[in-house]
Amino acid sequence: MGKRNILLLEPNYKNKYPPIGLMKLATYHRKLGDNVVFYKGDLNKFVLEDICCQLIDKISEIDNTINWNNYRNDIIQYIYRGIRAIKFELISKSQYSLALDNWFEHYKNQYRKGEYFHQPKWDRICITTLFTFHWKITIETIEFAKKIVKDINELKVGGVLATVLSNEVESKTGIKPHNGLLDKAGVLDDNEIIIDNLPLDYSILEEIDYKYSENNAYYGYLTRGCIRKCSFCAVPKLEPKFHEFISIKNQIKKASKTYGEKRNLLLLDNNVLASDCFPEIIKEIKEIGYTKDSKYIEPNQLDISIKNLKSGFNDRAFIRKSYNLLHQLLSKLQGDRQQHLYNMMESLSLLSINTSSKENILAIYPEVKELYEKHRNKTPKKRYVDFNQGVDARLLVKDEKKMMLLSEIPINPLRIAFDNMKYEKIYVKAVELAAKYGIKQLSNYLLYNEQDQPIELYQRLKINVDLCETLGINIYSFPMKFHPINGNEWYANRNFIGKHWNRKFLRAIQTILNATKGKIGKGKSFFYEAFGHDEDEFFKLLYMPETYILFRFFFKDMGYTDRWWEEFNNFSSKDLFIVKTIIEKNDFSNIENLSCSSSIKAFLRNHYLISREEIKNPESKIFKEKLNYDLKKNA
Ligand code: SF4
Repeated sequence: MGKRNILLLEPNYKNKYPPIGLMKLATYHRKLGDNVVFYKGDLNKFVLEDICCQLIDKISEIDNTINWNNYRNDIIQYIYRGIRAIKFELISKSQYSLALDNWFEHYKNQYRKGEYFHQPKWDRICITTLFTFHWKITIETIEFAKKIVKDINELKVGGVLATVLSNEVESKTGIKPHNGLLDKAGVLDDNEIIIDNLPLDYSILEEIDYKYSENNAYYGYLTRGCIRKCSFCAVPKLEPKFHEFISIKNQIKKASKTYGEKRNLLLLDNNVLASDCFPEIIKEIKEIGYTKDSKYIEPNQLDISIKNLKSGFNDRAFIRKSYNLLHQLLSKLQGDRQQHLYNMMESLSLLSINTSSKENILAIYPEVKELYEKHRNKTPKKRYVDFNQGVDARLLVKDEKKMMLLSEIPINPLRIAFDNMKYEKIYVKAVELAAKYGIKQLSNYLLYNEQDQPIELYQRLKINVDLCETLGINIYSFPMKFHPINGNEWYANRNFIGKHWNRKFLRAIQTILNATKGKIGKGKSFFYEAFGHDEDEFFKLLYMPETYILFRFFFKDMGYTDRWWEEFNNFSSKDLFIVKTIIEKNDFSNIENLSCSSSIKAFLRNHYLISREEIKNPESKIFKEKLNYDLKKNA
């Protein structure tokens, strides 16, 4: 089989963790000698840049006396906008302008007339997928990929969404997704390689502008699957078989050798405590280098990048990485030293990523090697282990030894789920055990909008705040809105409303969470301010106009909130029922046509029509009022 062009795509949604499946696929295809490219971002931009690269390669063959990369921005502009004057200026730099003209025209048409799609370049495209509520962007990505792959049968779609909504994806796009893991030999080609067992290719993460929030960690699984079958969870479908222990020691060793040591260990196990091999798992984590007080000193990243550039391993990634490191160094220097490096980088066209070449990076390296070593950060930092899918409180409580074992590694944070008030006793016991064994940083996803009552969210948050105070620990609570993963039309968006929830309550929680950046830490006063001092106040917040929640102090201090609350409580019980029913729908667009009394309409008009836009509009009365208020506050 000849060298194939392989494109790995992640749809352009925001996510915290890198696409592990694609990282394995990168290793797989590199092993087979293929040319591998990873992309996450604007797909039109990707095509534009790809066409630009092809044009530069072509014109460099014709005239290599000019470094065409220096004109990359102009070339992109020409391809994108087709302005002749740009082209004439570019080709007039060369004595072969006539020959160049044809190729400029050819590649402009590739983009502007869509000819790129008539002669697709990619032999295979692999797309990963994630949450079902990313349905729209996922389908758009698949549709786009269909246009740039040579053979539609070589468009491979896998991952969470593709597995749980396999039929829906197929009927929408005509592409039959791969379900579950790539854990059998010969899944993609006729060979004996099991892709799921391959080490991760961390280099692909350097190829894109997008930065995953946890980007200095080894990623891995020590177990696969789960012993339980929770209705809202995709794991039983994705990984139906529970594997007790998968050693990662060798993979980590290899990754360190190629990419340098990573600081943290991020483990994506679904239910690691369910493994009978848990003591061996902890032993391996310690052997890898994650003991209680282990420290990390970042290796020399420039040396690593250069080593990889020299060996020809993913130039696309390591040119970008070296470029970024050189610029970091430049920003650390001062005075003459900075000027000297700047001049060197300028003369080698290393001031822009567009013009940076492998040859010039290798050329500058001997000059900056020592300087980089001198200025790089060598401060020892604590290392952490994070089972980012959380651990099962029921199993912790059943066997205290598991908590003891967890406390022997630098776990931070310990994530324990608290999905329902019915697990209160178990959850509290698990947190107490964590504190007993000295684990002080905890994190907690709180599922809401499923079968739960709204008040249970408040109760669970309050339990966490109280536990922080009594046990002297930190629990960061992350309320997570439930979205069904299949079964009805809700999977494709975020509009699902749980049995005991309504539009207004969900909006209120979202508004509060926007102000707290999605997490609630320790500190009672902060919690009370955000969610109310008691359950009654929490309910008051749920019915409160959105802008009153958002600009809490302004509306409170200006008396709006009190007036609203007084009027709300002055309704007769019959009217209050009507008012609540209207508010819960969270639609105030047509108040005049509602079938209710004029006093209810006036109440809604006065309080629920003050929008965020109105507060931002300099012409509005409320804007001026808020401006005066803010000025007085800041005086
Ligand atoms: S215990 Fe966790 S991983 Fe296992 S099925 Fe339930 S939610 Fe999914």
